[in-house]
Amino acid sequence: MGFMQKRTYHRLGLLLLAFLASACAGTRGNVYPLSKGYLPADQLFGKLQQIMQGNPALVRLNIIGFSATENLPVYCLDIGRPQAARNVLLVGQHHGDEVLGLEVVLDWAAQLARDSRADKKTDAILDNFRFWIVPTLNPEGHRVVAAGLCSHKRKNNRDTNSNGILDLPGDGVDLNRNYPVFWDEFAELPPAHQNYKGSEPASEREIQAITMLAQKQHFDYAIFFHSSPSGALSEKIFLPALDGSSDKQLQAYAELEKFAQAYAKQLPKDYLRGNYEVSPIPGSRMGSARNYFFHIHGTAAFLVEIGGVNSAGVSVVHPGTKMRDRIVEKHRKALRSVFHGMI
Ligand SMILES: [Zn+2]
Repeated sequence: MGFMQKRTYHRLGLLLLAFLASACAGTRGNVYPLSKGYLPADQLFGKLQQIMQGNPALVRLNIIGFSATENLPVYCLDIGRPQAARNVLLVGQHHGDEVLGLEVVLDWAAQLARDSRADKKTDAILDNFRFWIVPTLNPEGHRVVAAGLCSHKRKNNRDTNSNGILDLPGDGVDLNRNYPVFWDEFAELPPAHQNYKGSEPASEREIQAITMLAQKQHFDYAIFFHSSPSGALSEKIFLPALDGSSDKQLQAYAELEKFAQAYAKQLPKDYLRGNYEVSPIPGSRMGSARNYFFHIHGTAAFLVEIGGVNSAGVSVVHPGTKMRDRIVEKHRKALRSVFHGMI
């Protein structure tokens, strides 16, 4: 083969590789900055207003507090009818890089508002359940990730090393370690650590906002949406810690397990065969949302890790638009089926 010919083949090969890589990125891998279809942070308020204005008799938009450092509002949609006896809390996001949950809960809110009369099942759900939907409890982390500044910004933007600037991704407190429950029992990690639990229980205003809401409203059920960038926890549901100290707690835990199993059964994995699973091991004792809601308020609370591992073993937490849409749709169906099943 002549030199020119070789070079042409070489170039063709490179082009093919580049094409395959971009095709993979588009359909089966992570795409960052986020694809079209993900909500930019500065459009969140507009989106919530739009949902509310679509059905103002049913939907109320609240601000439950503000973020620790940048004073960003923490929004909460309250969707339900006066006769609905059971309260449900859905939190789309604690960790900035875990954006799929935010997309899922916004879609569910829109579904409730849109189909409250047209769809019989949704109509029945709203006669029984009142939904409190917090798209993001971490507007600072979401702002950073949605703007394309850092793909794995987990914590809020507290200047934990006190150098006067925001260091990405090291600065911040892990909001899902900052709840005032079992806080002392979790390791004292350095402030730059991804799981830094803060200087004291509920030191962060985001956590003060959600715990105040919990004290005002009794929540019967709560789901906290997360994603697992490492893939180790992907497509699993995690329950709170269990100390088994009372029959009452064991009974509540058994009920919670049923609720979690019902949800897992409705959710096929994104890329691999099979459905989501409920982790058989009770959660660890740390200041997480599910521990706080279950142990302090008796809420049937679990965490779900959404976004799957693909056939190449890559954890896809920032899928392209098509897979994002599929994930959102599958959770919408699961939520509709599970809550209708509990009427
Ligand atoms: Zn998380």
